[in-house]
Amino acid sequence: MRILITNDDGVYSPGIAALAQVASRFGEVRIVAPDVEMSSASHAITASRPVTYKRTPLPGLDAYRVNGTPGDCVMLGTTLWEKIDLVLSGINIGANLGNAIWHSGTLAGAKQAALLGLRGIALSAPATDREQPDFELLKPWVATVLEALLEAPELPLVNVNFPARAPRGTRWTCQSMRHYDGKVVPGKDPMGRTHYWFTVVPVESTEEGTDRWAIEQGHVSMTPLRLDLTDEEALEQVRKLESWKKLKFA
Ligand code: MN
Repeated sequence: MRILITNDDGVYSPGIAALAQVASRFGEVRIVAPDVEMSSASHAITASRPVTYKRTPLPGLDAYRVNGTPGDCVMLGTTLWEKIDLVLSGINIGANLGNAIWHSGTLAGAKQAALLGLRGIALSAPATDREQPDFELLKPWVATVLEALLEAPELPLVNVNFPARAPRGTRWTCQSMRHYDGKVVPGKDPMGRTHYWFTVVPVESTEEGTDRWAIEQGHVSMTPLRLDLTDEEALEQVRKLESWKKLKFA
């Protein structure tokens, strides 16, 4: 099996090295990742300038750095390295739960794989300014998760999050949508001008069965995702509306 690995924290992140080390047990591994941090870059593709790559020495790993986004890395990696079976993205330094999925560059790497008809798995672990994920502690759990997901080929896109401490178990979850954890914080620069930080604020209490809930309970969260964003319920309702029928859109 050939496994392409990317992330949004950049090629030198300890998270991508940890993921690649575990993934090497399952197949041939190649890292193709952004040369600088691209967190919250979402699913951008660089279209206004050319993209290049350079080989990057990482101990024991076949790695390349790209002057582009996670999406670019998967596009380029799958073009230059053929017959890829699986794309892994992470391990992100910071959780990707609930609405964060919309902004996440880590998720974008996995989504880009799914768009290309490949399997994509995103992996993330919570972090604060003071505390980074303990990747050594997480490695056996990463192996367990990969083993389980490799046995479920019917899931093309999965978002995996690890808890802050040693996991109690694993849970299949849905995406928490009730809360939005983004916030704009104003500040002053040394010249007295107002500027703004777009930041993440902690969200308390969340619905049972969601990704955020699983992490709060100390479990590994695994959420199957899909690319089709159609609101089936809304679609069914609007199709029934008389007012729309009159407009002769059909
Ligand atoms: Mn990141």
